[in-house]
Amino acid sequence: MSEGDKAPNLAGQWGRRVDLLIVGGGVMGLWAALKAGRAGLDVLLVDEGWLGHGASYGHLGALMAHSPDKWNPKKQFQFDALLSLETEVRALEAETGLSSGYARAGRLVPLPKPHLRDIALRNEADARTNWRASDGRSFEWRLTDEAPDAGWPLSEGIEGGFVLETFAARANPRAFTSVLIAALQRLPNVATFECVAVVDLDAARASATLSSGETVGFGHAIIAAGYKAFPMLERLLPAREKVLGAPVKGQSAMMKADIDPSLPLIFLDGLYVVPHEGAQVAIGSTSENTFGEPFTTDEQLEDLIARARRLVPALEHAPVIDRWAGLRPKAMARDPLVGPLPDAERIIALTGGFKVSFGIAHRLAEAALQSVLATADVDIPPSFRVPHHLG
Ligand SMILES: Cc1cc2nc3c(=O)[nH]c(=O)nc-3n(C[C@H](O)[C@H](O)[C@H](O)COP(=O)(O)OP(=O)(O)OC[C@H]3O[C@@H](n4cnc5c(N)ncnc54)[C@H](O)[C@@H]3O)c2cc1C
Repeated sequence: MSEGDKAPNLAGQWGRRVDLLIVGGGVMGLWAALKAGRAGLDVLLVDEGWLGHGASYGHLGALMAHSPDKWNPKKQFQFDALLSLETEVRALEAETGLSSGYARAGRLVPLPKPHLRDIALRNEADARTNWRASDGRSFEWRLTDEAPDAGWPLSEGIEGGFVLETFAARANPRAFTSVLIAALQRLPNVATFECVAVVDLDAARASATLSSGETVGFGHAIIAAGYKAFPMLERLLPAREKVLGAPVKGQSAMMKADIDPSLPLIFLDGLYVVPHEGAQVAIGSTSENTFGEPFTTDEQLEDLIARARRLVPALEHAPVIDRWAGLRPKAMARDPLVGPLPDAERIIALTGGFKVSFGIAHRLAEAALQSVLATADVDIPPSFRVPHHLG
Protein backbone atom coordinates (compact mmCIF):
# COMPACT_ATOMS: atom_id res chain seq x y z
CA MET A 1 0.00 0.00 0.00
CA SER A 2 2.97 2.26 -0.51
CA GLU A 3 1.33 4.74 -2.83
CA GLY A 4 -1.91 4.88 -0.88
CA ASP A 5 -0.06 5.99 2.19
CA LYS A 6 0.86 9.12 0.30
CA ALA A 7 -2.74 10.05 -0.49
CA PRO A 8 -3.78 12.61 2.07
CA ASN A 9 -7.50 12.75 1.49
CA LEU A 10 -8.20 9.04 1.66
CA ALA A 11 -5.88 8.13 4.49
CA GLY A 12 -7.86 6.58 7.30
CA GLN A 13 -11.07 6.43 5.27
CA TRP A 14 -11.32 2.64 5.10
CA GLY A 15 -14.86 1.40 5.00
CA ARG A 16 -16.00 4.65 3.46
CA ARG A 17 -17.06 5.58 0.02
CA VAL A 18 -15.14 6.84 -3.00
CA ASP A 19 -16.63 8.30 -6.15
CA LEU A 20 -14.71 5.89 -8.33
CA LEU A 21 -12.97 2.61 -7.59
CA ILE A 22 -10.60 1.39 -10.29
CA VAL A 23 -9.57 -2.26 -10.23
CA GLY A 24 -6.19 -2.64 -11.90
CA GLY A 25 -3.34 -0.22 -12.46
CA GLY A 26 -2.08 -1.16 -15.92
CA VAL A 27 -2.02 1.35 -18.73
CA MET A 28 -5.84 1.28 -18.90
CA GLY A 29 -6.49 1.81 -15.19
CA LEU A 30 -3.78 4.45 -14.91
CA TRP A 31 -5.27 6.57 -17.69
CA ALA A 32 -8.75 6.19 -16.19
CA ALA A 33 -7.47 7.27 -12.77
CA LEU A 34 -5.67 10.25 -14.25
CA LYS A 35 -8.62 11.47 -16.24
CA ALA A 36 -11.08 10.92 -13.38
CA GLY A 37 -8.71 12.60 -10.93
CA ARG A 38 -8.30 15.60 -13.19
CA ALA A 39 -12.08 15.86 -13.36
CA GLY A 40 -12.16 16.16 -9.57
CA LEU A 41 -13.47 12.73 -8.56
CA ASP A 42 -12.32 11.00 -5.38
CA VAL A 43 -10.56 8.00 -6.91
CA LEU A 44 -9.16 4.84 -5.39
CA LEU A 45 -6.99 2.75 -7.72
CA VAL A 46 -6.26 -0.74 -6.39
CA ASP A 47 -3.75 -3.17 -7.87
CA GLU A 48 -3.08 -6.69 -6.65
CA GLY A 49 0.56 -6.26 -7.65
CA TRP A 50 2.65 -3.21 -8.44
CA LEU A 51 1.23 -0.47 -10.63
CA GLY A 52 2.18 -1.00 -14.26
CA HIS A 53 3.61 -4.47 -13.68
CA GLY A 54 0.93 -6.53 -15.45
CA ALA A 55 0.83 -6.88 -19.24
CA SER A 56 1.85 -3.22 -19.39
CA TYR A 57 5.36 -4.07 -18.14
CA GLY A 58 6.69 -5.07 -21.56
CA HIS A 59 9.55 -3.78 -23.70
CA LEU A 60 8.18 -3.00 -27.14
CA GLY A 61 5.82 -0.03 -26.93
CA ALA A 62 5.06 -0.09 -30.64
CA LEU A 63 2.37 2.48 -31.44
CA MET A 64 1.16 1.66 -34.92
CA ALA A 65 -1.96 2.31 -36.96
CA HIS A 66 -3.80 -0.30 -38.96
CA SER A 67 -2.91 -0.32 -42.64
CA PRO A 68 -4.45 2.59 -44.58
CA ASP A 69 -6.55 0.42 -46.94
CA LYS A 70 -10.21 -0.57 -46.44
CA TRP A 71 -10.71 2.39 -44.14
CA ASN A 72 -13.44 2.06 -41.50
CA PRO A 73 -14.52 3.66 -38.19
CA LYS A 74 -12.26 1.36 -36.14
CA LYS A 75 -9.20 2.36 -38.14
CA GLN A 76 -10.20 6.03 -37.90
CA PHE A 77 -10.64 5.75 -34.12
CA GLN A 78 -7.20 4.21 -33.70
CA PHE A 79 -5.59 6.75 -36.03
CA ASP A 80 -7.14 9.67 -34.12
CA ALA A 81 -6.13 8.12 -30.78
CA LEU A 82 -2.54 7.64 -31.89
CA LEU A 83 -2.44 11.25 -33.06
CA SER A 84 -3.85 12.69 -29.83
CA LEU A 85 -1.57 10.48 -27.74
CA GLU A 86 1.47 12.48 -28.80
CA THR A 87 -0.03 15.71 -27.45
CA GLU A 88 -1.15 14.06 -24.22
CA VAL A 89 2.21 12.39 -23.62
CA ARG A 90 4.19 15.55 -24.29
CA ALA A 91 2.00 17.44 -21.80
CA LEU A 92 2.49 14.73 -19.16
CA GLU A 93 6.25 14.72 -19.70
CA ALA A 94 6.35 18.48 -19.25
CA GLU A 95 4.21 18.23 -16.11
CA THR A 96 6.23 15.45 -14.46
CA GLY A 97 9.70 16.16 -15.85
CA LEU A 98 9.95 12.47 -16.83
CA SER A 99 10.40 10.90 -20.25
CA SER A 100 8.18 8.18 -21.64
CA GLY A 101 10.62 7.38 -24.43
CA TYR A 102 8.02 8.50 -26.96
CA ALA A 103 9.10 9.29 -30.53
CA ARG A 104 7.30 9.18 -33.85
CA ALA A 105 10.20 7.32 -35.47
CA GLY A 106 8.19 5.46 -38.13
CA ARG A 107 8.13 1.84 -39.21
CA LEU A 108 10.06 -0.12 -41.81
CA VAL A 109 8.43 -3.23 -43.26
CA PRO A 110 10.69 -5.44 -45.42
CA LEU A 111 8.76 -7.08 -48.28
CA PRO A 112 10.21 -10.58 -48.80
CA LYS A 113 8.37 -11.23 -52.11
CA PRO A 114 7.98 -9.01 -55.24
CA HIS A 115 4.17 -9.37 -55.41
CA LEU A 116 3.92 -7.47 -52.11
CA ARG A 117 4.99 -4.32 -53.99
CA ASP A 118 1.57 -4.00 -55.64
CA ILE A 119 -0.17 -4.11 -52.28
CA ALA A 120 2.30 -1.56 -50.94
CA LEU A 121 1.60 0.79 -53.86
CA ARG A 122 -2.15 0.55 -53.23
CA ASN A 123 -1.58 1.29 -49.55
CA GLU A 124 0.60 4.23 -50.52
CA ALA A 125 -2.35 5.78 -52.37
CA ASP A 126 -4.75 4.93 -49.53
CA ALA A 127 -2.46 6.60 -46.98
CA ARG A 128 -2.61 9.83 -48.98
CA THR A 129 -6.39 9.80 -48.50
CA ASN A 130 -6.79 8.28 -45.05
CA TRP A 131 -3.72 9.18 -43.03
CA ARG A 132 -4.57 12.86 -42.74
CA ALA A 133 -4.88 14.73 -39.49
CA SER A 134 -7.43 17.50 -39.06
CA ASP A 135 -4.54 19.90 -38.33
CA GLY A 136 -3.27 19.40 -41.88
CA ARG A 137 -0.50 16.92 -41.11
CA SER A 138 -0.32 13.87 -43.32
CA PHE A 139 1.72 10.69 -43.07
CA GLU A 140 3.24 8.45 -45.69
CA TRP A 141 3.19 4.75 -46.51
CA ARG A 142 6.00 4.73 -49.04
CA LEU A 143 7.47 1.94 -51.13
CA THR A 144 11.23 2.18 -51.38
CA ASP A 145 13.87 -0.11 -52.92
CA GLU A 146 16.52 0.45 -50.30
CA ALA A 147 16.32 0.56 -46.52
CA PRO A 148 17.07 4.17 -45.53
CA ASP A 149 20.01 3.07 -43.36
CA ALA A 150 22.43 0.35 -44.42
CA GLY A 151 22.10 -2.73 -42.23
CA TRP A 152 18.79 -1.60 -40.75
CA PRO A 153 17.91 -4.25 -41.76
CA LEU A 154 20.04 -6.38 -44.13
CA SER A 155 18.47 -6.47 -47.59
CA GLU A 156 19.44 -10.11 -48.30
CA GLY A 157 16.35 -12.15 -49.14
CA ILE A 158 14.19 -9.03 -49.35
CA GLU A 159 12.96 -9.25 -52.95
CA GLY A 160 10.15 -6.69 -52.86
CA GLY A 161 11.85 -3.69 -51.27
CA PHE A 162 10.60 -1.95 -48.15
CA VAL A 163 7.66 0.03 -46.92
CA LEU A 164 8.65 3.04 -44.89
CA GLU A 165 5.72 4.57 -43.04
CA THR A 166 6.00 7.78 -41.09
CA PHE A 167 3.04 7.53 -38.71
CA ALA A 168 4.25 4.80 -36.35
CA ALA A 169 5.71 5.81 -33.01
CA ARG A 170 7.17 4.01 -30.03
CA ALA A 171 7.42 4.61 -26.31
CA ASN A 172 9.11 2.66 -23.55
CA PRO A 173 6.21 0.90 -21.77
CA ARG A 174 7.85 0.97 -18.32
CA ALA A 175 8.82 4.62 -18.64
CA PHE A 176 5.36 5.40 -20.04
CA THR A 177 3.51 3.96 -17.04
CA SER A 178 6.01 5.66 -14.70
CA VAL A 179 5.02 9.00 -16.22
CA LEU A 180 1.35 8.21 -15.66
CA ILE A 181 2.03 7.13 -12.06
CA ALA A 182 4.02 10.31 -11.38
CA ALA A 183 1.19 12.42 -12.77
CA LEU A 184 -1.31 10.58 -10.54
CA GLN A 185 0.80 11.26 -7.47
CA ARG A 186 0.34 14.96 -8.08
CA LEU A 187 -3.43 14.65 -7.66
CA PRO A 188 -4.50 14.81 -4.00
CA ASN A 189 -7.89 13.28 -4.80
CA VAL A 190 -6.40 10.05 -6.22
CA ALA A 191 -5.19 7.30 -3.91
CA THR A 192 -3.46 4.16 -5.10
CA PHE A 193 -3.02 0.90 -3.22
CA GLU A 194 -0.50 -1.65 -4.41
CA CYS A 195 -0.37 -5.36 -3.49
CA VAL A 196 -4.04 -5.27 -2.49
CA ALA A 197 -6.54 -7.20 -4.62
CA VAL A 198 -10.21 -6.59 -5.08
CA VAL A 199 -11.56 -10.02 -4.12
CA ASP A 200 -15.26 -9.32 -4.41
CA LEU A 201 -17.35 -6.70 -6.11
CA ASP A 202 -20.99 -6.35 -5.07
CA ALA A 203 -22.75 -4.38 -7.78
CA ALA A 204 -26.07 -4.12 -5.90
CA ARG A 205 -24.45 -2.71 -2.75
CA ALA A 206 -21.87 -0.77 -4.74
CA SER A 207 -19.11 -2.04 -2.51
CA ALA A 208 -15.89 -3.97 -2.91
CA THR A 209 -14.05 -6.28 -0.58
CA LEU A 210 -10.28 -6.04 -0.63
CA SER A 211 -7.75 -8.76 0.13
CA SER A 212 -6.94 -6.83 3.29
CA GLY A 213 -10.47 -7.67 4.47
CA GLU A 214 -11.66 -4.08 4.27
CA THR A 215 -14.63 -2.88 2.24
CA VAL A 216 -14.87 0.20 0.06
CA GLY A 217 -18.14 1.71 -1.15
CA PHE A 218 -18.14 3.36 -4.54
CA GLY A 219 -20.25 5.51 -6.81
CA HIS A 220 -18.86 3.69 -9.84
CA ALA A 221 -16.25 0.99 -10.35
CA ILE A 222 -14.08 0.54 -13.42
CA ILE A 223 -12.77 -2.97 -13.96
CA ALA A 224 -9.42 -2.54 -15.70
CA ALA A 225 -7.83 -5.73 -14.42
CA GLY A 226 -6.35 -6.81 -17.75
CA TYR A 227 -7.11 -10.46 -18.60
CA LYS A 228 -8.45 -10.98 -15.08
CA ALA A 229 -11.19 -8.46 -15.87
CA PHE A 230 -12.95 -11.09 -18.00
CA PRO A 231 -13.86 -13.52 -15.20
CA MET A 232 -14.69 -10.61 -12.89
CA LEU A 233 -17.13 -9.22 -15.45
CA GLU A 234 -18.51 -12.70 -16.21
CA ARG A 235 -19.35 -13.14 -12.51
CA LEU A 236 -21.30 -9.88 -12.66
CA LEU A 237 -23.28 -11.15 -15.65
CA PRO A 238 -24.22 -14.59 -14.29
CA ALA A 239 -27.40 -15.09 -16.29
CA ARG A 240 -25.55 -14.66 -19.57
CA GLU A 241 -23.00 -17.45 -19.10
CA LYS A 242 -20.74 -15.77 -21.59
CA VAL A 243 -16.97 -16.14 -21.82
CA LEU A 244 -15.83 -12.61 -22.54
CA GLY A 245 -12.14 -13.10 -23.10
CA ALA A 246 -8.92 -14.92 -22.35
CA PRO A 247 -5.21 -14.24 -21.85
CA VAL A 248 -2.74 -14.54 -24.73
CA LYS A 249 0.85 -14.96 -23.63
CA GLY A 250 3.58 -12.80 -25.14
CA GLN A 251 7.35 -12.89 -24.66
CA SER A 252 9.83 -10.11 -25.39
CA ALA A 253 13.42 -9.13 -24.71
CA MET A 254 15.53 -6.01 -24.36
CA MET A 255 19.01 -5.85 -25.85
CA LYS A 256 21.80 -3.39 -25.22
CA ALA A 257 23.08 -2.02 -28.55
CA ASP A 258 24.45 1.24 -29.79
CA ILE A 259 21.61 1.86 -32.25
CA ASP A 260 20.39 5.31 -33.28
CA PRO A 261 17.06 5.62 -31.41
CA SER A 262 15.58 7.74 -34.19
CA LEU A 263 15.61 4.76 -36.59
CA PRO A 264 12.19 3.36 -37.52
CA LEU A 265 11.06 0.18 -35.81
CA ILE A 266 11.26 -2.90 -38.03
CA PHE A 267 8.33 -5.25 -38.45
CA LEU A 268 8.76 -8.52 -40.36
CA ASP A 269 6.51 -11.57 -40.11
CA GLY A 270 5.58 -11.09 -36.47
CA LEU A 271 9.08 -9.99 -35.42
CA TYR A 272 9.45 -6.49 -34.01
CA VAL A 273 12.78 -4.77 -33.56
CA VAL A 274 12.17 -1.49 -31.74
CA PRO A 275 14.97 0.99 -31.01
CA HIS A 276 14.61 2.86 -27.73
CA GLU A 277 16.49 5.63 -25.97
CA GLY A 278 19.50 4.68 -23.87
CA ALA A 279 21.07 2.30 -26.41
CA GLN A 280 18.34 -0.29 -25.96
CA VAL A 281 16.51 -2.32 -28.59
CA ALA A 282 13.34 -4.29 -27.84
CA ILE A 283 12.64 -7.62 -29.55
CA GLY A 284 9.23 -9.27 -29.63
CA SER A 285 6.77 -10.85 -29.48
CA THR A 286 5.35 -14.31 -29.29
CA SER A 287 1.57 -14.73 -29.38
CA GLU A 288 0.52 -17.89 -27.53
CA ASN A 289 -3.09 -18.90 -27.02
CA THR A 290 -2.04 -21.95 -25.03
CA PHE A 291 0.84 -22.06 -22.60
CA GLY A 292 1.99 -23.91 -19.53
CA GLU A 293 4.05 -21.29 -17.73
CA PRO A 294 2.51 -17.84 -18.10
CA PHE A 295 5.39 -15.73 -16.85
CA THR A 296 8.55 -17.52 -17.97
CA THR A 297 10.39 -17.20 -21.27
CA ASP A 298 11.47 -20.14 -23.42
CA GLU A 299 12.96 -21.14 -26.76
CA GLN A 300 10.23 -19.28 -28.68
CA LEU A 301 11.75 -16.02 -27.46
CA GLU A 302 15.25 -17.28 -28.22
CA ASP A 303 14.08 -17.93 -31.81
CA LEU A 304 12.90 -14.32 -32.11
CA ILE A 305 16.20 -13.06 -30.72
CA ALA A 306 18.10 -15.22 -33.22
CA ARG A 307 15.94 -13.88 -36.09
CA ALA A 308 16.62 -10.31 -34.97
CA ARG A 309 20.37 -10.96 -34.86
CA ARG A 310 20.26 -12.35 -38.43
CA LEU A 311 18.21 -9.40 -39.70
CA VAL A 312 20.25 -6.62 -38.09
CA PRO A 313 24.04 -7.11 -38.04
CA ALA A 314 24.46 -4.55 -35.26
CA LEU A 315 22.53 -6.90 -32.96
CA GLU A 316 24.65 -9.96 -33.71
CA HIS A 317 26.67 -9.76 -30.51
CA ALA A 318 24.42 -7.39 -28.54
CA PRO A 319 23.74 -8.72 -25.02
CA VAL A 320 20.19 -9.45 -23.92
CA ILE A 321 19.66 -7.43 -20.74
CA ASP A 322 16.11 -8.54 -19.94
CA ARG A 323 13.67 -11.28 -20.91
CA TRP A 324 10.00 -11.01 -20.00
CA ALA A 325 6.61 -12.68 -20.48
CA GLY A 326 3.15 -11.27 -19.88
CA LEU A 327 -0.52 -12.03 -20.53
CA ARG A 328 -2.41 -9.77 -22.91
CA PRO A 329 -6.17 -9.34 -22.44
CA LYS A 330 -7.93 -10.56 -25.57
CA ALA A 331 -11.71 -10.34 -25.79
CA MET A 332 -13.54 -13.17 -27.55
CA ALA A 333 -15.06 -10.56 -29.85
CA ARG A 334 -11.47 -9.36 -30.52
CA ASP A 335 -12.16 -5.65 -29.92
CA PRO A 336 -11.61 -3.74 -26.69
CA LEU A 337 -14.39 -4.10 -24.13
CA VAL A 338 -15.45 -0.73 -22.74
CA GLY A 339 -18.41 0.79 -20.93
CA PRO A 340 -21.10 0.15 -18.34
CA LEU A 341 -22.63 -3.29 -17.88
CA PRO A 342 -26.24 -3.33 -19.09
CA ASP A 343 -27.54 -4.86 -15.84
CA ALA A 344 -25.28 -2.96 -13.47
CA GLU A 345 -24.49 0.46 -14.83
CA ARG A 346 -22.24 1.47 -11.94
CA ILE A 347 -19.80 -1.20 -13.06
CA ILE A 348 -17.75 -0.26 -16.08
CA ALA A 349 -15.51 -2.50 -18.18
CA LEU A 350 -12.16 -1.23 -19.48
CA THR A 351 -10.09 -4.03 -20.94
CA GLY A 352 -9.45 -6.11 -24.06
CA GLY A 353 -6.79 -3.88 -25.62
CA PHE A 354 -4.92 -7.05 -26.60
CA LYS A 355 -1.90 -5.91 -28.65
CA VAL A 356 -2.67 -2.21 -29.04
CA SER A 357 -3.61 -0.85 -25.61
CA PHE A 358 -0.81 1.70 -25.33
CA GLY A 359 -1.98 3.66 -28.37
CA ILE A 360 -5.66 3.88 -27.46
CA ALA A 361 -5.97 3.54 -23.66
CA HIS A 362 -6.27 7.31 -23.12
CA ARG A 363 -9.30 7.49 -25.42
CA LEU A 364 -10.85 4.28 -24.08
CA ALA A 365 -10.49 5.67 -20.54
CA GLU A 366 -12.46 8.74 -21.61
CA ALA A 367 -15.16 6.48 -23.04
CA ALA A 368 -15.25 4.46 -19.81
CA LEU A 369 -15.68 7.65 -17.78
CA GLN A 370 -18.43 9.03 -19.94
CA SER A 371 -21.30 7.75 -17.79
CA VAL A 372 -19.47 8.70 -14.57
CA LEU A 373 -18.73 12.27 -15.56
CA ALA A 374 -21.79 12.71 -17.79
CA THR A 375 -19.46 13.99 -20.47
CA ALA A 376 -20.26 14.21 -24.14
CA ASP A 377 -20.27 11.00 -26.10
CA VAL A 378 -16.80 9.67 -26.82
CA ASP A 379 -17.14 8.31 -30.27
CA ILE A 380 -15.82 4.76 -29.91
CA PRO A 381 -16.76 2.10 -32.46
CA PRO A 382 -19.98 0.28 -31.43
CA SER A 383 -18.10 -3.03 -31.50
CA PHE A 384 -16.07 -1.84 -28.47
CA ARG A 385 -19.20 -1.45 -26.35
CA VAL A 386 -20.33 -4.12 -23.89
CA PRO A 387 -23.60 -5.03 -25.70
CA HIS A 388 -21.63 -6.03 -28.78
CA HIS A 389 -19.49 -8.37 -26.68
CA LEU A 390 -22.60 -9.90 -25.14
CA GLY A 391 -24.32 -10.36 -28.48
C1 LIG B 1 5.05 -9.34 -25.10
C2 LIG B 1 4.05 -8.24 -25.22
C3 LIG B 1 4.28 -7.21 -26.13
C4 LIG B 1 3.35 -6.17 -26.29
N1 LIG B 1 3.62 -5.16 -27.16
C5 LIG B 1 2.74 -4.14 -27.27
C6 LIG B 1 3.03 -3.04 -28.11
O1 LIG B 1 4.07 -3.00 -28.76
N2 LIG B 1 2.13 -2.02 -28.18
C7 LIG B 1 0.96 -2.05 -27.47
O2 LIG B 1 0.17 -1.11 -27.56
N3 LIG B 1 0.65 -3.09 -26.67
C8 LIG B 1 1.52 -4.12 -26.57
N4 LIG B 1 1.21 -5.19 -25.77
C9 LIG B 1 -0.12 -5.26 -25.17
C10 LIG B 1 -0.25 -4.37 -23.98
O3 LIG B 1 0.90 -4.48 -23.17
C11 LIG B 1 -1.51 -4.75 -23.20
O4 LIG B 1 -2.61 -4.71 -24.09
C12 LIG B 1 -1.76 -3.77 -22.07
O5 LIG B 1 -0.67 -3.71 -21.22
C13 LIG B 1 -3.00 -4.15 -21.28
O6 LIG B 1 -3.16 -3.17 -20.28
P1 LIG B 1 -4.24 -3.36 -19.15
O7 LIG B 1 -4.19 -2.16 -18.28
O8 LIG B 1 -5.55 -3.73 -19.78
O9 LIG B 1 -3.77 -4.68 -18.37
P2 LIG B 1 -2.53 -4.90 -17.36
O10 LIG B 1 -1.38 -4.07 -17.72
O11 LIG B 1 -2.35 -6.37 -17.27
O12 LIG B 1 -3.09 -4.32 -15.99
C14 LIG B 1 -4.06 -5.01 -15.24
C15 LIG B 1 -3.73 -4.82 -13.78
O13 LIG B 1 -4.80 -5.32 -13.01
C16 LIG B 1 -4.28 -5.87 -11.84
N5 LIG B 1 -5.28 -6.78 -11.27
C17 LIG B 1 -5.73 -7.94 -11.79
N6 LIG B 1 -6.68 -8.46 -10.99
C18 LIG B 1 -6.84 -7.62 -9.94
C19 LIG B 1 -7.66 -7.60 -8.78
N7 LIG B 1 -8.55 -8.58 -8.54
N8 LIG B 1 -7.54 -6.58 -7.91
C20 LIG B 1 -6.65 -5.59 -8.15
N9 LIG B 1 -5.85 -5.55 -9.23
C21 LIG B 1 -5.95 -6.55 -10.11
C22 LIG B 1 -2.98 -6.54 -12.28
O14 LIG B 1 -2.09 -6.68 -11.19
C23 LIG B 1 -2.48 -5.58 -13.34
O15 LIG B 1 -1.52 -4.65 -12.83
C24 LIG B 1 2.14 -6.20 -25.56
C25 LIG B 1 1.92 -7.22 -24.62
C26 LIG B 1 2.86 -8.24 -24.46
C27 LIG B 1 2.60 -9.31 -23.45
